Amino acid sequence: MKKLGIFGSTGSIGKNALQVVRNNPDRFKVVCLTANNNVDLLVHQALQFIPETVCISDQAGFRIARQRLRQTGIQVVCGAEALCDLAREADFNMMVGAIVGFAGLLPTLQAIKAGKDIALANKETLVVAGEIVNRLLEEHRVRLIPIDSEHSALFQCLVGEDRSSIRKIILTASGGPFLHKPKEEFNKITVSEALKHPNWKMGSKITIDSATLMNKGLEVIEAHWLFGLSPDKIDVAIHPQSIIHSMVEFVDGSTKAQMGAPDMKVPIQYALSYPERIKNGFNAFNFKKTSRLDFFKPDRTKFKCLSLAYNALEELGTMPAVLNAANEVVVENFLKERIKFVDIPTYIKKTMQKHVVIQNPDLEGILEADQWARSYVRKLLGYN
Ligand code: NAD
Ligand code: MG
Repeated sequence: MKKLGIFGSTGSIGKNALQVVRNNPDRFKVVCLTANNNVDLLVHQALQFIPETVCISDQAGFRIARQRLRQTGIQVVCGAEALCDLAREADFNMMVGAIVGFAGLLPTLQAIKAGKDIALANKETLVVAGEIVNRLLEEHRVRLIPIDSEHSALFQCLVGEDRSSIRKIILTASGGPFLHKPKEEFNKITVSEALKHPNWKMGSKITIDSATLMNKGLEVIEAHWLFGLSPDKIDVAIHPQSIIHSMVEFVDGSTKAQMGAPDMKVPIQYALSYPERIKNGFNAFNFKKTSRLDFFKPDRTKFKCLSLAYNALEELGTMPAVLNAANEVVVENFLKERIKFVDIPTYIKKTMQKHVVIQNPDLEGILEADQWARSYVRKLLGYN
């Protein structure tokens, strides 16, 4: 029985992970669940899975959860520190890292230090601190398996292969809702249009990142740390059908692709059960229903965030943390309708230009860069 700590259980990935657990009660047991503020769903999940502990960041939510779970024996804890303590001390052997954004970093580092394997959806952790994460994985002999569909695809293509035989990898991208929208109309894009992703149902932050292609940019950096490849060996192809989840081209000119219906439960289940594959009732790719698979180059003049992420990867040091922090703040402000969609890359670029990069930062240096970028971009936006 694999014991799981599901961090960010009330989100899109968290709910899908619980569905995988529900389908396989003989294989997986949930030891802890965590949420930011969705107390109703957290309590509902707790009553169904009876974990040892639940953690909620929000104080008001904490009081409600404690009240509603008081007869169950489930421990309820609250706050960012408690989240880290739980990651380190709770009795699970695999963390499902499903928190969104920078908030996922510290709990993930704690889980690694405690020797727990990681099934990672929270790409921001690798974007901001990939070098530190890799060092800790080695030091504590911990296995990290990606959940992000592209990286799961690459991981699957690389089973049985030597990393030195990779010529390049090709990350596929749906292109998001504005793939065919003329550049001149980007000025008028609304929040609700940006939240309509053509192929995937996800949390709001990653949905906006998919519309700007920042998501693909973050994934390029994620791939760099996962597979040890330089930026020139990481390519991006727009593939609107989202059937090929990514590809590896090898030195002999052969290319492997991993395919499947766009359903996050598949890469989540794979990460939880690796190296085994488990039977399930999920839909598979049906070639009779898909008449064509298209590929083309992304338009970087329309989607400037992709180039910004490549720039951050070229610079490394604290720059990816600055890219990520600026993006988190700007996306949050776009969702509140305070800035325009077209201005997202502008603010991120301005923040990156102002940043003085520190190479090989320690965790403290990364936290400082993150804080600096957040306050700098907030000042630019006029919201403190
Ligand atoms: P979501 O917004 O649906 O859920 C986020 C979860 O994190 C929630 O449980 C929320 O309570 C928790 N959370 C948010 N802020 C927090 C904070 N400050 N402290 C503690 N917990 C907090 O997001 P999602 O779409 O499930 O994405 C989660 C992560 O997985 C992201 O990093 C995303 O990039 C990655 N990812 C998601 C998908 C997808 O299909 N949704 C695919 C690939 C990768
Ligand atoms: Mg992805």
